[in-house]
Amino acid sequence: MAAYEHPAFRSALFFSASLVLQTFASPNQTPGFDIAKFKKADIVYKDVAIIGGGSAGTYSAISLKDKGKSVIVIEKKNRIGGNTETYIDPATKTPIDIGVQMFHNISVVNDYFNRFQVPLIKYGADADPNAQPVNAQYDFRTGKAVNVSFPTAEAVGAAFGKFAQFLAQYPRLNDGMFLPDPIPADFLLPLGDFVKKYDCEAILNTMFELDPALGDFTTVPAIERIRVFGLSLVEAVGTGVLTTAHHNNSELYTRAQTELLSASSLLLSSEVVASQRGQAGIKLVVSTPTGKKLIIAKRLLITIPPKVDILAPFDLSKQETGVFSKLIDVGYYTSVMKNTGIPDNVGIFNYAQDTPYNFPVLPKGYNVQTTRVPGLHQALYGTPRSSKTFPMSDDAVKADIIKGIKAIQKANPDKFNQTEPEFVFFSAHTPFYLQVKPEDIKAGHYEKLYALQGLRNTYWTGATFRAQDSSDIWRYSENEVLPKLLAGL
Ligand SMILES: Cc1cc2nc3c(=O)[nH]c(=O)nc-3n(C[C@H](O)[C@H](O)[C@H](O)COP(=O)(O)OP(=O)(O)OC[C@H]3O[C@@H](n4cnc5c(N)ncnc54)[C@H](O)[C@@H]3O)c2cc1C
Repeated sequence: MAAYEHPAFRSALFFSASLVLQTFASPNQTPGFDIAKFKKADIVYKDVAIIGGGSAGTYSAISLKDKGKSVIVIEKKNRIGGNTETYIDPATKTPIDIGVQMFHNISVVNDYFNRFQVPLIKYGADADPNAQPVNAQYDFRTGKAVNVSFPTAEAVGAAFGKFAQFLAQYPRLNDGMFLPDPIPADFLLPLGDFVKKYDCEAILNTMFELDPALGDFTTVPAIERIRVFGLSLVEAVGTGVLTTAHHNNSELYTRAQTELLSASSLLLSSEVVASQRGQAGIKLVVSTPTGKKLIIAKRLLITIPPKVDILAPFDLSKQETGVFSKLIDVGYYTSVMKNTGIPDNVGIFNYAQDTPYNFPVLPKGYNVQTTRVPGLHQALYGTPRSSKTFPMSDDAVKADIIKGIKAIQKANPDKFNQTEPEFVFFSAHTPFYLQVKPEDIKAGHYEKLYALQGLRNTYWTGATFRAQDSSDIWRYSENEVLPKLLAGL
């Protein structure tokens, strides 16, 4: 038991917490913070409260717990894992990872999976060489086949080599958005211009097919692409990425969830409704399935997408609002479908004949990929960058996915069956890839973002602070955020 959880310490803390509450009191203070209104069992004292139990929140909770700190994770869904989602086919019980698929082969990843005894393998190591998927390229608007001249494997390797040489000039970028001052103009070039300038256009198709969801691909500032495809991922792509041996990346989260629940360190289906954050500590009123709870913690770690509307219960300061109000994002959706009319061994990528590098016009499906279960395909969909948190309704996305597949069927009756596609699973990962416009990057957005760490006893991690990449989020959380959070705790 952490000292902070000891009953004697608790009563002393309870007393000092009352004082702290008085210190926090303001004329429009919500009555929800009145300790007297909570049953003793509904007041929770922890070292660190963590908002969001996805990749960043779960990793940080386990790491802090292993360092002897008491934590409470507040997760709005009834499961942890966030963008790591696994569909289990009810007929065959085969798991299909439809969210996070791959990890870098680095110590933070191997140690984390080892801790939960979840074995990892190189991605594709157990694939049947005689049953490799066949990739085809179609325009999801017209259903017509698109002729894409893909670079050779040698050209791709050489282009990644040049890209890595560029990255090697900025080693600190491998740890986060630690940009040089002044910011090199090349970082702000649209990606399409950047790859031309550095003669590495051949990296684009690999990047797009591995990780398409950052809005229009060629106009995104190069630094936003570098943020995910830093040296660590470029190396991982070269030497082989990892996945779980059972093809069930949620296994880690199932085990972490059991551990956190048994340590009274996790509130599922719960959300913060009001908060007080200050030098004296953190107070959160949390709505849970068993009623409101008051969390009193020394530190707060926020890992959810930090859009101003989403963070409304956190009483943002002017400084925080100023930084977060600049954020734009994309919609990203994943689904499992049956009756697509597409043969089981065929995966289709959306390309266009009339666009730079043949990349698709968004919003549209990115691809309809093969899965490990006959009769099922995975369909991914994306929107352009937007300042709206939810740029499209789920129903509109579903209708457009079906429209795209039907267009392909209709234009190619000799290749695809004319069937009615159906969703067996659908999930919206929105808002996704929070980023800012190039002029905001130039004006020091990332420096301002990182300057928020520690203010009002609040720390931040997750994709917006690092990248849409779990391995890099864990490395960033472990090396850059948790040491600061732990100082003096
Ligand atoms: C389809 C898809 C494929 C991907 N593939 C890969 C891949 O192969 N490899 C890789 O490394 N990354 C991949 N990613 C990127 C992935 O998003 C990141 O790796 C990582 O999951 C981001 O972690 P996070 O903690 O920032 O966010 P998330 O994992 O999304 O976690 C956020 C959590 O916060 C919860 N939450 C949100 N709002 C609230 C609230 N108000 N209160 C409480 N809880 C809240 C959410 O329910 C969620 O559990 C993929 C993403 C998608 C969508």
